[in-house]
Amino acid sequence: MSKMISHSWGNNKRVFAEHRTHSQIANVVETVVNSEPSSVIPRGAGRSYGDQALVTDGLMISLTQQDHLENLEMPISGLINVKGGMSIGQLLDATIPLGWILPVIPGSQHITIGGALAADAHGKNHWHQSSIASCCEELNVMISDGSIIRCSRETENQLFWATIGGLGLTGLITSATLRLQRIAGTSVKVQTKCYENLSTLLKGFDDATASEEYAVAWLDLLTSSQLGRGIVKSASVYQHGQDWEKSKRFNQIHLPKPRNVNVVTPRICRTHNNLKYLFSSKAKDISVASIRNYLFPLDRIRNWNSLYGKSGLIQWQFILPDKETSLLEEIIMGFNKTSALPSLAVLKRCGEASESYLSFCSPGWTLAIDLPANQDSYRYISKYNPLIANATGRIYLAKDSCVDSGLLGKMYPRLAHWKAIQKEFDPKGIWQSDLSRRLKLCS
Ligand SMILES: Cc1cc2nc3c(=O)[nH]c(=O)nc-3n(C[C@H](O)[C@H](O)[C@H](O)COP(=O)(O)OP(=O)(O)OC[C@H]3O[C@@H](n4cnc5c(N)ncnc54)[C@H](O)[C@@H]3O)c2cc1C
Repeated sequence: MSKMISHSWGNNKRVFAEHRTHSQIANVVETVVNSEPSSVIPRGAGRSYGDQALVTDGLMISLTQQDHLENLEMPISGLINVKGGMSIGQLLDATIPLGWILPVIPGSQHITIGGALAADAHGKNHWHQSSIASCCEELNVMISDGSIIRCSRETENQLFWATIGGLGLTGLITSATLRLQRIAGTSVKVQTKCYENLSTLLKGFDDATASEEYAVAWLDLLTSSQLGRGIVKSASVYQHGQDWEKSKRFNQIHLPKPRNVNVVTPRICRTHNNLKYLFSSKAKDISVASIRNYLFPLDRIRNWNSLYGKSGLIQWQFILPDKETSLLEEIIMGFNKTSALPSLAVLKRCGEASESYLSFCSPGWTLAIDLPANQDSYRYISKYNPLIANATGRIYLAKDSCVDSGLLGKMYPRLAHWKAIQKEFDPKGIWQSDLSRRLKLCS
């Protein structure tokens, strides 16, 4: 098969590489064992913003979902065995009508189970459910010699914790056993509250986490007078009117392709933010929505990433512990004095960290900011990344496009241990991505 141009979800990285999709494990084994060193990376739905699933001049390998669900034991134990290439949306299609849900759901239903596990993804409820590792009981991982290793907290636990959050660099997750939880309805009651500045918003967010299952805040980083103003949307499952068919309807808009032009300009972003804040402050405080509409707001616009034109966007997501709220404020305030354009900013609350060696979330606040991929943005990020590291915060590697590799040891104290496990399970150094080359993750 020939090489072609592939790009990241942020469109900020483009590579010339081969992409092979297999439905049979035997074919994947053959491909992997016959690969050159430093040349192969698993790829899921390609929704990572940066170079996590790209490898220049190499091979990106995907597993299609085959038969979706094996050993469906949900009614008794909530345990389900799923293929790594299955999407979150496909899983929910199968389980929600039976009254079960994945406890941790990232913000797009197109993401695959393998991709979510490789990022140790979090949802809008990290403070009470932690990351997706918390609901993963077992993995089957194809390592670079083609063998498939079953690993869990009890068996081959080093591989288990290195693979969750390991960005595909220990091997291909062929399947996973996940623990689901019961869900009493398919709608959520959403509470919307607007706050005029960051400190009242943080307090309001914390109040919401005391009683609600999910919470997320949108921040306006483009207003100089009310910096950090925003909207907290918290939600809990609504137990009445359990009409799955109704909640399954998920209307999507397909934007006309803006012909490689960046339409995300300061004026458009400011107008959007002002209208969004105004409408939300006038809207009803309480509403009922389908759980998908609440969990996946960005999926409603299919190709929103193309709005940023040819050079694309970067998503910069960092986490800071509670005692560093002043740095969070400083970063937000700093946008007043730069040409970097924070077009979208989303804040979440994080709780207990997972045991995976490269997991991102730990107690504190995480802010994800979309910025056009340009020098202003890179300069702004490079200015604050060292301060984030000094404050015992970190950058989310599953979304990163530009962190300095010299900061990683500080941000991820178990990095050296992860590297040793990675090397043990990939002695010939088959797995490699542009991210791992950039950050020198695999020797
Ligand atoms: C709109 C949007 C919303 C998002 N919301 C959230 C969120 O709320 N929380 C959050 O944590 N993240 C979020 N993300 C980030 C997302 O969870 C990660 O980027 C995820 O890794 C993407 O999965 P994917 O299936 O698209 O994989 P890809 O982008 O194809 O790959 C991502 C990484 O996973 C590895 N990988 C993929 N499949 C496998 C496999 N089978 N075995 C081993 N490794 C594999 C790849 O090698 C690569 O390193 C969001 C992304 C988008 C675009």
